[in-house]
Amino acid sequence: MRVQAINNTIVNINSRQIKNKVISQTGTIDKPVSDVVAAQNIAFHGLLDSKPSLSERFKYGLEALDGNTLFIVTSNEQDSNRKLKEFSSKIDIPVTQIYTLVVKDEELKNDRQLNANFTIFKKGNEYYALNLGPTWGLTIENPNEKHSLKNHHSVGELTRLNSGEAIETGETIWSNETHKFIFNPPYRYNPSNAQKYLGYKSALSNANDIESFNQRTISSLTETKKQKNAGKTKYFHFSDVGGLDDVITELRKFVIRPAKYPEVFENVRLNKGILLYGPPRCGKTLLGKALANEAGLGWWYKNANEFKSGVVGSSEQSVRNYFQAIMKEPGVLFIDEFDAIAKSRDGSSNARYDDSLVNQLLGCMSDLEKSDTISFVIAATNRKDLLDDAMVASGRFGLHLEVPIPNEQALESIFNIHAKGKSFDDDVSLPELITKMKEWEFNGSDVAELITIGYFNALERLGINAKMDAGTFSSRDLQLISIAKTDLLDALKKIATQKIAR
Ligand code: ATP
Repeated sequence: MRVQAINNTIVNINSRQIKNKVISQTGTIDKPVSDVVAAQNIAFHGLLDSKPSLSERFKYGLEALDGNTLFIVTSNEQDSNRKLKEFSSKIDIPVTQIYTLVVKDEELKNDRQLNANFTIFKKGNEYYALNLGPTWGLTIENPNEKHSLKNHHSVGELTRLNSGEAIETGETIWSNETHKFIFNPPYRYNPSNAQKYLGYKSALSNANDIESFNQRTISSLTETKKQKNAGKTKYFHFSDVGGLDDVITELRKFVIRPAKYPEVFENVRLNKGILLYGPPRCGKTLLGKALANEAGLGWWYKNANEFKSGVVGSSEQSVRNYFQAIMKEPGVLFIDEFDAIAKSRDGSSNARYDDSLVNQLLGCMSDLEKSDTISFVIAATNRKDLLDDAMVASGRFGLHLEVPIPNEQALESIFNIHAKGKSFDDDVSLPELITKMKEWEFNGSDVAELITIGYFNALERLGINAKMDAGTFSSRDLQLISIAKTDLLDALKKIATQKIAR
């Protein structure tokens, strides 16, 4: 048992301290006092408060820090949120959830206001606090040293926390009566008390919030919600996917109808794990997005490499978060580059079973199988041959659908999809283009690129670029824009050259 050896006695909780137990209105909290983070100067009002003390709730917040979580301590949530947005660039972890300890005036000794707001997060094995204003003090009170060091932190300042440090939250105003939280990192991850006693917000439920944190690592999460945001991001339909009719037929059977008519499939074990495999840029992600939209399911995208990055334990938590999201609300979780985590080592089929991330994923898959929620996990890979056999066995990712390199027919339908809304000169011969595209093994993305580059070539050839630069362009000029054979052949040459260079 650890007791914070700081000169103050546990004055404010003494009245509730009987034989090493803390008494609350609802009874005895089964926690030895010395295990409680000793926040000596934080008092709470009386035995009649059914909530655990501030110091305990502070400890619960620390226990919930997992590398994807923020813990905010504040007396003014709105102010803190504003500051959090302002200084979000200092938080370089992918944030998926936020716990908040709102300190009410009446919970403090003499009904005084907490004069500092801050957020704590965990990165690797280190803990950081970001001051959300106005000012807080950090006191390093090492019992082995004679002196104590005090630092004041200005708003927006990021500080690494050390065990035993006291965060003084009322320092600047009441010199005699500082409120302190003693930072004492927990030895294990346990979010259950935080879930019970602290405010909780999933960052995943608010695209704006999540966007303000670490753009790079969580941009994929944001994409999820953006797609739901009608008008801003395009919804895809199966009609936007060319040449994959057979795969779409299978997806209608195994996903669309069960999602739309769950009552028909009540006693059927649904295949909730689907493997989409095939060469790069042939439409796997596009198909996943269209599927989610057609089935009326939420869309969650994650690149498997992002699961792998980060600290031990945080990847597993991140997997759990995504599965929690799709078990809460019907959705499609699309895991791109699946081979990055589901690769079989040395060709042995069970080689990765010691890998905790793989185990976590399999555990979550089996929870999903058992749950009533009609959600699906789509694993996409260009390297099916590398996958662990056990991972793609039935009951996990049992439904395997190939998204192949487009044949002539598929090239034509992909071309027509991307050609929509554009004018072409009469000299454009689609069969001729298709023959050339086939020769150069065009994938779906190359076809889309062909039309884009062809369009840019037309703008140049028709003098539209010059008009835009000179400011003489008018909307009437739009009618002049038409893509000619030469624009497309030049584009094809460019793409083919790039393919050789690769
Ligand atoms: P990767 O394996 O590299 O992740 P992918 O197979 O998921 O690639 P997408 O990202 O879906 O490929 O395709 C990239 C883009 O190429 C699409 O957004 C779309 O514009 C175009 N595209 C690819 N395949 C098709 C297709 N079958 N029909 C229509 N457009 C396609």
